[in-house]
Amino acid sequence: MTDSRLAMFGGPRTVEAGAGASPETAWPIVTDAEREAVLGVLDSGRFTSVERGEVQLLEQEWASYVGVRHCAALSSGTAAIELALVASGLEPGAEVLVPAFSFIATASAPLLRGLVPVFVDIDPVTYTVDPVAAAAAITPRTQAILAVHLHGLPCDMDALRALADRHGLVLMEDAAQAHGATYRGRQAGALGDVAAFSLNASKNLPTSGEGGLLTTDDEAVYERVVLHRQFGEDLTGRGERAYLSRVIAGNDKLSSIQAAFTRSQLARLSERHEQRDRNVRRFLRRLAELDGVVTPHCPDDRTHAWFQLRLRFDHHAMGCPDIAPGAVRTLLQRALRAEGVPVRPYQSLPLPAQPAVRSSLPQDRPYRPADHPATLALIEDSVTIQRWHLNPAAGPLLERCADAFEKVWGQLDLLLPAARSMTYEPLWRQADAVGVRA
Ligand SMILES: *Cc1c(COP(=O)(O)O)cnc(C)c1O
Repeated sequence: MTDSRLAMFGGPRTVEAGAGASPETAWPIVTDAEREAVLGVLDSGRFTSVERGEVQLLEQEWASYVGVRHCAALSSGTAAIELALVASGLEPGAEVLVPAFSFIATASAPLLRGLVPVFVDIDPVTYTVDPVAAAAAITPRTQAILAVHLHGLPCDMDALRALADRHGLVLMEDAAQAHGATYRGRQAGALGDVAAFSLNASKNLPTSGEGGLLTTDDEAVYERVVLHRQFGEDLTGRGERAYLSRVIAGNDKLSSIQAAFTRSQLARLSERHEQRDRNVRRFLRRLAELDGVVTPHCPDDRTHAWFQLRLRFDHHAMGCPDIAPGAVRTLLQRALRAEGVPVRPYQSLPLPAQPAVRSSLPQDRPYRPADHPATLALIEDSVTIQRWHLNPAAGPLLERCADAFEKVWGQLDLLLPAARSMTYEPLWRQADAVGVRA
């Protein structure tokens, strides 16, 4: 007789131990093509982006993939957001609309560059910035919208474009999670005035470390970015370097080895996306059959890069509206992890609740949890799957994960009493956890 007990209660796990360290879940995928590309740089002796070589080729290839005139390779996705802000000519202290739910860099980049992030709630279905809430947040000081294609799903860019045009705002994309995703037939990175991508090893288009790409059709923006990535010097000219700095700027260039690695990944981006899309959709279709599991929604006019898979647990549909969503989620997370499913939180606080951000906000704009109800609800009732599903060979493992969900859902009556008796306090309400230190 097979042992059907939950792994949490001593039964056998559904997904084999070590699956997260297996070749099926490896990311980035390193093949002989990457080894040759990196060795090629070592043999060429052209290590930096100043010498013509891999960096320029990557810029050309990415501009053409995205369908824009210009691409600048940079040291990270965060640097790409910062330089997009710097190059767009925003006035010091200008307000930039950003979603309340994103990775910290979306908020820290404007703050690092002397701008004021104004946090806007997300749409409860797409988890990207809500255009209606964005419209309500506009003031005479607003000069830009930084739209984040969260988890790999493009924002409602036509609505944001209309809003930006109506108020004369710069429309920027944080496309760090959305390489290859499309909106109404156009690529992420070609949907706003300027866009930032990350090449961090964890992202859909990775390098073997850190890197970033900025895309734009605007020649003047591109030229300012290039100036700002290299000491304020114009290094495009032929002849000897003049050591003439036009603006105060740091060093945010990409190295040739990183570029060579990414070019090799780019050659397989579409093919890997297609297999991943099939694997993920099959997995999500099975999960959507379970009472109360809310799977990611991808509107018909978009494609999803599936950087992360966010799963919500609706306590009403699960028949336990009396239990706090955070308690239900905590217990399900425990049960699923025991089965070997790598569910984990991603962003446990609204951006403005991050201690570092809170202490940087203007005093007349303190953080108020009630301003972002959709963000709080999402944080409370959802978990994510990260990295595992990126590798196209992960399909069978995702099927095992779906088996584990079905097993857990078959025994919810054993689990929910524990959630009911749990003392649960959301992180955003735990004053100590988010307390601002002097
Ligand atoms: C990863 C990420 C960034 C930052 O990119 P880095 O290359 O790590 O600096 C910015 N925004 C979002 C949404 C990200 O996921």
